[in-house]
Amino acid sequence: MDMLKQRIREEATVVSAGVLKLDSLLNHGVDPVLTMELGKEFARRFAERPITKVITIESSGIPVAFATALTLGVPLVFARRKKTLLNEPDAYCERVPSFTKGIVTDLLVSRHLLGPEDSVLFIDDIIANGDAARGLLKIIEQSGARLEGIGIVLEKSFQAGGKALRELGFQVESLVKIASLEGNEITFAED
Ligand code: 5GP
Repeated sequence: MDMLKQRIREEATVVSAGVLKLDSLLNHGVDPVLTMELGKEFARRFAERPITKVITIESSGIPVAFATALTLGVPLVFARRKKTLLNEPDAYCERVPSFTKGIVTDLLVSRHLLGPEDSVLFIDDIIANGDAARGLLKIIEQSGARLEGIGIVLEKSFQAGGKALRELGFQVESLVKIASLEGNEITFAED
C-alpha cells in the first residue's frame, strides 16, 4: 500500500533495530481518512470470506479494526488487556508477553461476545514475534469461533510472527512489510 508506505517514511522513527515508533499513525494518534482506507483495503482482501465479526486487541488495533468492521457491515469485538487476572469466569482468557511494555498481560474476551456461531477476521496494528496474535488465536479456539483470516497493518518481516501464522495455514494479509530497521533506516520488503 503506497499511501501507507509514504506516511511511514514521513512520520515513523526508528527507536532501535527492532522497534519502530508510529505514534501519529497507529499507536497514539489516528488519521481517520487514512484509517478508513486501511479498513477498506482489509475488507477488499477478505471479501470472499463469510465474516460475522471483526476482532482485535486493545488499544492500537481498535481504529483500523473499527474501519474494517464498518466497511464489512459487521460488529467489532476487542480483547481487553489486563495486568492481573484474579477470576473472570465469564471471559475467555490468555496470558501473553507484551512486546513494547516488557510485561505479561492477560487478554480477555467476554463469553457472550464470541461463540461457535462466529466467523471472525482478526485485525491488528503491528506484528512482531506474534505473541499477542497467538494469544488471541487461543481465545478464538476456546470460543469455538472460526478464524477466517488475519489482517495486519504493519508486519516486521524480520521478526517471526507473520511467518509463524502463515505456517499454521491462515490467510495473513499485511498492508506493509518492513524487512529491516538496521542502521536507523526503514527498509520495506519487496511484496
Ligand atoms: P508481538 O506480540 O507480535 O510480538 O507484538 C505485537 C504488539 O506489540 C503490537 O500489537 C504492537 O502494539 C506492539 N509492537 C510490536 N512491535 C512494535 C513496534 O516496533 N512499534 C510499536 N509502536 N509497537 C510494536
